[in-house]
Parts: sequence; C-alpha cells; structure tokens
Amino acid sequence: MSYDECYVKSVVRTIHDWPEPGIAFRDVTPIFKDPKALRMVSDALTTRYIDSGITHIACIDARGFLLGSIMAYALNLPLVLVRKKGKLPGETICQDYTLEYGTSTVEMQTDAVSEGDNVLIFDDLIATGGTVLAAATLIRKLGAQIYETAALIDLPDLNGSTRISEADIPVFTLLAYEGL
Ligand code: AMP
Repeated sequence: MSYDECYVKSVVRTIHDWPEPGIAFRDVTPIFKDPKALRMVSDALTTRYIDSGITHIACIDARGFLLGSIMAYALNLPLVLVRKKGKLPGETICQDYTLEYGTSTVEMQTDAVSEGDNVLIFDDLIATGGTVLAAATLIRKLGAQIYETAALIDLPDLNGSTRISEADIPVFTLLAYEGL
C-alpha cells in the first residue's frame, strides 16, 4: 500500500494542553486502531531499511516499541529495548538526560548490542531530541554504531532533529508538525 502522508496525518490526533498547558500532544494511538494507516507507516518504514545493512532495531519506551517490533518482524532483525530506568532485569547501563522540566533516565541491558552492530534507533516522536541522544550514548558506550534514527513524527521547532543530526546521526521522519 503506498504511503499517503495526508491520510496518516488525518489519523494522528492532537490533544491540546496535555499533559500540561501549552503542550500539543501528538497522539499516535489512533494509528493502531486504523489498519490502513498502520499498514502505510509500517510499510514505509520497513521498505526504507530493507537493504540498509542495519543489524538491530533499538526502540524507545514505550510507544517506540509498537512500530519497532513490527519493523523487526518484517525485516527479520533483532529488536532491543531502551527503557525508562528500573524496568529491565539483569546487568544494565543507564544515561540521564534533560527534559523540558527536570531530568529522566534511560537504560539498556549490557548485552543488547555490541561492537560491529549497526543500529537503527526508533521512537514515535522527536521533540527536543534528548531521549534519542541518551539512547545513542548508551548504544555507542556498548561499542555499536548508529545507522540512523527514525520516528513517525518530528516537531522541528523544538530542534531535536537538528541536535541529533549534529551528533552525526541521520534522522528520518514520516510526518512533521510546526509549533510545540
Ligand atoms: P524528546 O526527548 O524531547 O525528543 O521527547 C521525545 C519523547 O517524548 C518521545 O518518546 C515522545 O513519545 C514524547 N513526546 C514529547 N513531546 C511530545 C508531544 N508533543 N506529543 C507526543 N509525545 C511527545
């Protein structure tokens, strides 16, 4: 099924002033209720990476898990998880990062990726880029290289995709929304 940006955009729901005043929350959950939209985005993302040489998909807690696992299944690749602190058993490494207000921490299992791996990072949305950059730090600490970051949505006015590109990580997104 060919990708129709207008259709997918019409399915994403914007919830204003949530989770706090001034934020326009881009809710991707309706995509998962709409098989046509889900197939379009899954096919567009999967097709892009068929001959890319990526060895792993690292997906970010929690909405990144949904499309990340579809891509991993379709591409027959290992999926590894970047989770909020305290969710993963076994030996882990973690990385703090700054949010608009306060800080947060992401974590990976130390055997998730290793030297020689070529990793695609996937999340649902890039805002300030802090989450993806923290994930990238962990992946690089484990010795792997990063092929690219992909997301469904970019919020370019928050400069995250620019910050990620400046860290020598290419960025691919399917949709963009102006404003916060
Ligand atoms: P950031 O680290 O600032 O790039 O934020 C990206 C993470 O926060 C992603 O995992 C998103 O799911 C979530 N996020 C940030 N801003 C929004 C927004 N306006 N709408 C939906 N999710 C958001």
